[in-house]
Amino acid sequence: MVDLPQNLIRLGVQAGSKADAISQVAALLIEAGNVAPNYLSGMLAREEQANTYLGSGIAIPHGTPETRNLIRKTGIAVLQVPGGVQWGEGGETVRLVVGIAAASDEHLDILRRLTRVLSNDELVEKLSTTTDPADLQEALTGERPAAAPSPAAPELPFTAQVTLPNPLGMHARPATGLANLVRSRGGRVRLTRDSGESADATRLMEVLSLGLTRGTALTVSAESRETLAAVTDAIRAGLGDDLSAAPAQTAPVRREPDWAPQHVGATVEGVAAADGLVVGVTRQHAPRPLDVRDEPSDPAQDAARLDTALAAAHAELKVLVDDVGTKFGADKAAIFLAHQELLSDEGTVQDTVSRILDGHGAAWAYQAATGERIAKLQKLDDPTLAARAADLGDVQRRVLRQLLGIREADVQASGPVILLATDLTPSDTARLGPDTLLGFVTAQGGPTSHTAIIARGLGLPAVVAAGPGVLEVPDGTPAILDGAAGRLYLNPSEADVHSARERQGALQQEREAARAARFEPGATRDGARVEVAANINRAADALAALEAGAEGVGLMRTEFLFLERDSVPSEDEQEQEYRAMALALEGRPLIIRTLDIGGDKEVPYLGLAREDNSFLGLRGIRLCFERPDLFLPQLRAVARVAKDHPNVHLMFPMISTLEDFRRARAIFDGVRRELDVPSVPLGVMIEVPSAALIAEALATEVDFFSVGTNDLTQYTLAMDRLHPQLARQTDAMHPAVLQLIALTVQAAERHGKWVGVCGGAAGDEVGALMLAGLGVRELSVSTPQIAGVKAALRGRTLAELQALAREALTQPTAESVRALVRPPEREGARA
Ligand code: PEP
Ligand code: MG
Repeated sequence: MVDLPQNLIRLGVQAGSKADAISQVAALLIEAGNVAPNYLSGMLAREEQANTYLGSGIAIPHGTPETRNLIRKTGIAVLQVPGGVQWGEGGETVRLVVGIAAASDEHLDILRRLTRVLSNDELVEKLSTTTDPADLQEALTGERPAAAPSPAAPELPFTAQVTLPNPLGMHARPATGLANLVRSRGGRVRLTRDSGESADATRLMEVLSLGLTRGTALTVSAESRETLAAVTDAIRAGLGDDLSAAPAQTAPVRREPDWAPQHVGATVEGVAAADGLVVGVTRQHAPRPLDVRDEPSDPAQDAARLDTALAAAHAELKVLVDDVGTKFGADKAAIFLAHQELLSDEGTVQDTVSRILDGHGAAWAYQAATGERIAKLQKLDDPTLAARAADLGDVQRRVLRQLLGIREADVQASGPVILLATDLTPSDTARLGPDTLLGFVTAQGGPTSHTAIIARGLGLPAVVAAGPGVLEVPDGTPAILDGAAGRLYLNPSEADVHSARERQGALQQEREAARAARFEPGATRDGARVEVAANINRAADALAALEAGAEGVGLMRTEFLFLERDSVPSEDEQEQEYRAMALALEGRPLIIRTLDIGGDKEVPYLGLAREDNSFLGLRGIRLCFERPDLFLPQLRAVARVAKDHPNVHLMFPMISTLEDFRRARAIFDGVRRELDVPSVPLGVMIEVPSAALIAEALATEVDFFSVGTNDLTQYTLAMDRLHPQLARQTDAMHPAVLQLIALTVQAAERHGKWVGVCGGAAGDEVGALMLAGLGVRELSVSTPQIAGVKAALRGRTLAELQALAREALTQPTAESVRALVRPPEREGARA
């Protein structure tokens, strides 16, 4: 360990030239007895061989290997030149000259610290202008000298608890927003999980590696009360993410396409990532594999090359941010701001530099340091966060290209193509854009990757996870890409191409027609009513739902009032929210579902015991029975609003026995009596197979049922609804699930009750048609799906849908159920 006594530091000096600066720093080393006087000539000779500029205004002159014998004691000296001195021919200005006399490798620790300084602009500025030598001593040796007035590293005295509300967890974009916020305020902020793992809020990789998913409890600590308040407010507000999106339910299911060609050479099937139909020719996107060899040179040179590469990559990203921002909006550009952040991640830079100092080349070191982090992200439990590995891979390639001096080849030669690739990075997708690209198919990847998000933003049809076969398709193969169906058709006939073009036009018209007719009541072609309502989580979403054509709210998930904050909302707060929603709906039905916590919806501040099988434990109504402190205030809030608004309905989740319903009803009746509220329509969710199987008994006592197909499917098929590998099979169109829904509808009809569906199947076109055919009277879907569901219903008569449903019940598989749904006669069908 090398120390840095004050006599080896000179602050505020001037230097007329590089040679002058080197002489001055050498003089310090000579005066202190570290080196013999002619070490200076070794330093100047070294500078002739290679520039010792390190980056960020720092240079590290040192002697040649031949002059090592002139070193008496390893040491370093620092010359601070606030006005700067011209260093290399590249026009670099140096403000910190760190002279090194290293007999062996004891100075490496200082170099390590120095390179840490490199990536921190604020620190570089401070060290280049400070008047306190202790600042330099602390930065370069890690210790502030005891003699110096030493404010101890400040504690972070102000702390608060928050619960992460972001539907996709803490991914790169919100993490970047957080880092920027903290930087803009100055001072330090830490995030700490229950497990004790913590991260500096300005270090993106550290934050991402915490693997924070929606609902994770976090302790935020800050140096000031104001910063703490700003940071916790920003986290609660979602750090720029849209919090109204429901948590991922099921991955898109392979759908029987509405349109299919007749005579194609081959069909490649993948997972639908972005809708759209295009006709064109294919082109393989084979980015040149980067040949990264471990070719070390002088560590200082390698560190300087790294610095230059990082700066160049940063500049490239800046261009991309501006370009994408102008063309497609700031939200799409934010992905590349996050890439800039990944690029400047201090931990990664330090780790790379450590490897350089251990004797590896810059490119090899950077690849190793980022590769480790990519592998770690890939292993995170949460598939969305793991998908961020692709972002870091993208950044890695960008920097390695700089280090290796490789330009990314232009994909386009003549006219836009359907691009086929192993995987595309978000940069590829944005760089290629609609001018060069009709759409793309990747062998790997997933529908939640940023690549897929950008494709949707650009309006490019995209299919992912199509398997390695897609990489065998020769360039120039005529093809039709159907993003919605997740299919690529190769070598289509002339007639197919013609029909695809017609289909393109028809799709566009359909979208426009559906939107134009969104305020018509939901009904089949022959006028049988099927109400189309919205699933919303808060009052603020009600108006948008109405504007999209909602005929009411079929599911208000009240748990989101609890999930988006760090303490239980009071009875009054809940009442306000329910009242605002009831008012906004102007008499249209509002179905408020009582708290459905448990399973994947964790509310950390409630301090609930961890469960081995959270989906099978104290979830939904079962938890409410255990926690009257949560249940009663909620029921009172609903009852108060229901007293003034007869459109309010109450629904209980996770009912699995008749006793469950009776117990919940008895508690609510008590609340109603206490508050003198007349009867309120009461329903239960049918989301556990046992509830469907006793629907007859339940139907005599409830006012309505609402089928939660998300849970009913997971519990019927014994497939975790969040399991990425099972996502394709977790299909509510499985005949076993449909049988249970049919039983429910039949039981309800016998007792004059109605059945709605508020699970994801209601918003899927095939699902909506099938459910209406089974006798479901209300479909509650997410807001953007409303117009499409209404249009789909208008395309069929009730008798057609009933025949379809009857047949579905006889099918052996979900796939064969989906295969039953053929597109309706187009003429006038969707008008
Ligand atoms: C369902 O299970 O289908 C449902 C609507 O409830 P949630 O998705 O909130 O569990
Ligand atoms: Mg459910």
